[in-house]
Amino acid sequence: MNKVDFIIVGQGMAGTLLAHELISANKKILIIDKKLPASSSRVAAGMINPVAMKRCSPVNSAEYYLQNAFKVYRNLELKLKAKFLYSKPILKLFANEDIQNIWKVKYSNEDMDKYIASFSAKNEFPFLENSYGGAIVEPSAHLDVSFFLELSRKFFAELNVLSDEIFSFDSFDQMNCIYKDNLAEKIIFCEGHRLQSNPFFNYLPMTPTKGEIMKIKIPSLNFFNKMISKGIYVIPIGNFEYVVGATYNREDLSDRVTKEGRTFLINKLNSILNVDYEVLSVSAGVRPNVKDRRPLVGVHPEFSKLFVFNGLGSRGVLVGPSLSQELTSCLISGLPIEDKIKGHNNISRFN
Ligand SMILES: Cc1cc2nc3c(=O)[nH]c(=O)nc-3n(C[C@H](O)[C@H](O)[C@H](O)COP(=O)(O)OP(=O)(O)OC[C@H]3O[C@@H](n4cnc5c(N)ncnc54)[C@H](O)[C@@H]3O)c2cc1C
Repeated sequence: MNKVDFIIVGQGMAGTLLAHELISANKKILIIDKKLPASSSRVAAGMINPVAMKRCSPVNSAEYYLQNAFKVYRNLELKLKAKFLYSKPILKLFANEDIQNIWKVKYSNEDMDKYIASFSAKNEFPFLENSYGGAIVEPSAHLDVSFFLELSRKFFAELNVLSDEIFSFDSFDQMNCIYKDNLAEKIIFCEGHRLQSNPFFNYLPMTPTKGEIMKIKIPSLNFFNKMISKGIYVIPIGNFEYVVGATYNREDLSDRVTKEGRTFLINKLNSILNVDYEVLSVSAGVRPNVKDRRPLVGVHPEFSKLFVFNGLGSRGVLVGPSLSQELTSCLISGLPIEDKIKGHNNISRFN
């Protein structure tokens, strides 16, 4: 029997960040992942944005999440000897005078001043439709998610801790935490939207949401040093290329790209760009959203060796690093999960 401290099921953002934390704490792990279709992380745009743009307010615990995200990804860049985190401001374009006014009022009244670096004048950027000006939001960043995940996968494979297979619940003994010939102290399920097929945690109220995203080329604009936000986002990735996203669809949970998705993105893009562009590719994934829009972290109410790390929704790149650290400290200290995982992120709220 192969003995490990922890088995992790899934190597998206959740499983990958958790695996790095546990390896750094010298724990013996086994990751089981079979790059299944429609994984959210593999198509994610990778925006680290501390602001809810529609409401013009910081997301909950924005400062805490942001600080940890920068720290964790910078350390991982050193560990994996590559660059995948790019500090980049967001240019929020105002669609009309009302929105412009809301942002100016919020800047002077609430703690949004921490995140609004300045306002930009109307028509400041000739290649953009920019009649009402905009705001520069920072600190914010772009993570090259697919590169980070591929590097991590290679790292795990070299450590011999990755098994490229579909986790089979028929081969799992939940009382003793044995999977095939692997005996673990604990198992952590990080399956993204596929949590819905997990017989132990499928009671949790997920509302998975498909997202389609495009890669485009703007031949007249090699690089713009800001991520643009106006209903959709446009993220510069270098070499005249930009990522444009995203759609939200709760009906179709496949990784199939649709005519409707492409049309939606193109219509929005045409209302932002004043220059020609060409669409290079479109892809789709399913976000692990939750009914109350909060993460799903915690221990099974009946089987104390079974944990879940999921529900990262639309902000996994921002909140993942903090949550994986909090969960790691519970897993290795044996302290009650409530000590670290706050009620609104803890699955005990659904018991
Ligand atoms: C179009 C789009 C754009 C996005 N943009 C952003 C963004 O800009 N910023 C941001 O913060 N977030 C963004 N997100 C959200 C982000 O992708 C998620 O928050 C996060 O990646 C979720 O990661 P996860 O590990 O929980 O799930 P997933 O990425 O879905 O990973 C789950 C993994 O588990 C594996 N798995 C599942 N079941 C099994 C099994 N039985 N056996 C073996 N393996 C299994 C899957 O193959 C997969 O690798 C975006 C999402 C989409 C769809």
